[in-house]
Amino acid sequence: MSKESDKNLTNELVRQHIIDIKPYQPIIPLDVLSEEIGIPVNRLIKLDGNENPYGCSPRVKRAIADYNAYHIYPDSSHLVMRKLLGQYVGVDSNNIVVGSGSDELIDLILRLYLGPGDEVINCVPTFGMYSHCTAVNNGKLVDLLRDAAYDVDVDAVKSAISKRTKIIFIASPNNPTGNVISVYDVLSLLAFGIVVVVDEAYYEFYGTTMVPLVREHENLIVLRSFSKWAGLAGLRVGYGVFHDNVIRYLNKIKPPYNVNVAAQIAVKESLADTGYIRDTIKAIIDERKRLFDKLDEQGILKPIPSNANFILCRAPKGKAKSIKELLESGGIIVRYFDSPPLKDMIRISVGLPRHTDALIEALQRIGGTSYG
Ligand SMILES: *Cc1c(COP(=O)(O)O)cnc(C)c1O
Repeated sequence: MSKESDKNLTNELVRQHIIDIKPYQPIIPLDVLSEEIGIPVNRLIKLDGNENPYGCSPRVKRAIADYNAYHIYPDSSHLVMRKLLGQYVGVDSNNIVVGSGSDELIDLILRLYLGPGDEVINCVPTFGMYSHCTAVNNGKLVDLLRDAAYDVDVDAVKSAISKRTKIIFIASPNNPTGNVISVYDVLSLLAFGIVVVVDEAYYEFYGTTMVPLVREHENLIVLRSFSKWAGLAGLRVGYGVFHDNVIRYLNKIKPPYNVNVAAQIAVKESLADTGYIRDTIKAIIDERKRLFDKLDEQGILKPIPSNANFILCRAPKGKAKSIKELLESGGIIVRYFDSPPLKDMIRISVGLPRHTDALIEALQRIGGTSYG
């Protein structure tokens, strides 16, 4: 393959900010990993993607198998989904836009607001798509470090807001740190008249939302996803709650058929089976406590309290990579970070009880060796 620094016609024609983008680092697909470490996919314990280990509602699988009109385009206006989502969220269905994952909505929001030279505030460490999509949309990223407890440094944010600041992204609960922002802090940021995007991808594991504020604050956007709580990461559905004044423009730029028929069926069936999903959420929240306590007691990884379905842990200095690799060679996949501000950190998604047991056992074995 040619390089970005090569002199060729394409590199002269492609927009410079695209040439400068660093590719997004997605999680490695299971079948690829399975081949790499020589363990069959069904024996791998996948704790790196914050997915729901119980899977989606059985109703989803049945309805998708039974459907027989895949040759027909989906409803581009998302009428049925938005009606059900409106009831689920407690807002008018006209204030909802559905996307191919909330990732798509992050991009659409940036397209809506960003002009050349406009700034986006990002509170790191956080979800990688905010910085990635800002780069794709030629925005100027302003990274602000969270405080020692990983809370948003609201004073630092306020002093960083300039005439060029258009948007601030805040995940709450935040990925990968698991902590949340208060209504008070969100209100104080809204007062600056910039767009505040509160990403509630993990809302169902926490239970408090900023949605009711959207009606009074046209510069507040709340994002949600079906990937984590509803076990639908593979089908790509997210949605956002937007003020009346914003939604008309968003609808103008939304690609018409952005959510496929299978995903639309999955949303409908999931929302008809929230009892089932709530049971899995409860099991995950219970397991989060058990995993936290076991890690804490064991003392090899130091867990940080979380309001989501994962736990960020501090590894002994310089050991995150070797612990991740040793776990992986035993078929346990976790996410590891090794550059500031997440140096020596490992993020573990909450799995089934037997996943916790296998992880703790594997860590015990690693702790008994002179790893690293
Ligand atoms: C996983 C995640 C998302 C992605 O959601 P999709 O709907 O799968 O695109 C968005 N925000 C945060 C903070 C996440 O961790």
